[in-house]
Amino acid sequence: LLKSKQRPGMHIIHIAAEMAPVAKVGGLADVVTGLGRALQKKGHLVEFILPKYDCMDYSRIKGLKVMDFDLFSYFNGEAFKNKVWRGVVEGLPVYFIEPLHPGRFFWRRSYYGCHDDFERFTYFCRAALEFLLKTNKRPDIVHCHDWQTAAVPPLYWDIYAPQGLNSAQVAFTCHNFEYQGAAPPASLNACGLHSHRYHRPDRMQDNFAPDRINLLKGGIVYSNIVTTVSPTYAQEVRGPEEGRGLHVTLGQHASKFYGVLNGIDNEVWCPSTDPLLEYQYSPDDLGGKFANKMALRARLGMSCTGADAEKPLVGCVTRLVPQKGVHLIQHAIYRTAELGGQFVLLGSSPVPHIQAQFEGVAREFENHPHVRLILKYDESLAHAIYGASDIFVIPSIFEPCGLTQLIAMRYGSVPVARKTGGLNDRYRILNLVQSGLNFALDRALGYFMESREWWTELVTKVMQMDFSWDKPCEEYIDLYQAALARRTVR
Ligand code: ADP
Repeated sequence: LLKSKQRPGMHIIHIAAEMAPVAKVGGLADVVTGLGRALQKKGHLVEFILPKYDCMDYSRIKGLKVMDFDLFSYFNGEAFKNKVWRGVVEGLPVYFIEPLHPGRFFWRRSYYGCHDDFERFTYFCRAALEFLLKTNKRPDIVHCHDWQTAAVPPLYWDIYAPQGLNSAQVAFTCHNFEYQGAAPPASLNACGLHSHRYHRPDRMQDNFAPDRINLLKGGIVYSNIVTTVSPTYAQEVRGPEEGRGLHVTLGQHASKFYGVLNGIDNEVWCPSTDPLLEYQYSPDDLGGKFANKMALRARLGMSCTGADAEKPLVGCVTRLVPQKGVHLIQHAIYRTAELGGQFVLLGSSPVPHIQAQFEGVAREFENHPHVRLILKYDESLAHAIYGASDIFVIPSIFEPCGLTQLIAMRYGSVPVARKTGGLNDRYRILNLVQSGLNFALDRALGYFMESREWWTELVTKVMQMDFSWDKPCEEYIDLYQAALARRTVR
């Protein structure tokens, strides 16, 4: 009897638009997989539901098979057929939904940026819940992420719980309040949420544009637990600037809103085993790091002979969007070259004028011995840059958590960052985190060139810091369990 009172592992379903390494645009993908693996290691049953994009990296999905049933889901007054595929990603079971809707929603050769993103993702939310209902799954937690899956909480409580899919409490994590999924109210009707019910200030009406509906707001209002990705950002978004209009809603729902600092997956991001590095290395043996630096310079055609071999290498791996401080990144490139360092930028931009701007800078440095800009998404090159660089630049204007600084530190690349959001939460020991980029970069390059022994000690120290999911995962488990306990009491 006593034993039966102990809660066995929970059944947790993550519904998300990204999952590393198969469908990754940014940190959301890393977090979903990292948290999922950490929960699984602690004995919970963790499953994922994702759209089946045509542009995914199918080579990283094991045993992908179409399931032997047709899933019909409602959209715009009709029932559409979906194929559901099952596969395993990084040891985690994933269901991929392929809508057979004439809009060919996930056959776009890109993840986001289509005119009908609102429609595509609300379709996916509804189909994901229909899948749970039809397969009789009885999860304890349904955990959704960002605006793309923020229609799940209202759909769950208002349409699916009354049909019997009511075992779960709903968690919602907002990884970035800049992206909210706002649209004219009528757009919501397609997924079965009637706009006249939701277009209200206390439900899903946009706080800035009253003639719009806001999916992210719905995620906040209708979930049992709402989190964001660092304690500092959780405070920042309670104010008008970072909250982008949702600070009021977060204030109203403050008792269920938490900041849980992201971790990184120590097995994926591990310089002593990383198969994407030419030379593995560890804090006790940094020889491989220098070898990687020479290899990267050779790969990119940068100078590495004579005194140039000793130059510090500054790295930057980022989405090139205004949030990331693109003007400061550009400035850091020129400044590094001026100060006698080398710079490698790997980045791509969904914003055409930013992409064009960086293409201009790339052309300027085309044959330069010390600077390279590679303007695309490239997983393997990203690992090579973390492994080769000495300094890592992250001049973000705001940063909900930021993973690149954690990865950089794990690979012994010292971050030079602005003090904001998640960048403020763990790195106070690094006095290179400054509000002035110039000053911080000058100092970092100066220390590297003049105090090599001190620098090596710093590198060893940052490589040994613990950024694993261990502790954050426990925080999520506590939040899940507290939400389940509240449900039992009710
Ligand atoms: P965000 O989610 O805002 O993009 P994060 O710092 O949280 O920023 O996470 C970024 C993730 O995406 C990291 O894993 C980083 O290595 C990866 N990444 C960003 N840009 C690229 C790129 N051009 N090529 C490969 N990986 C990238």
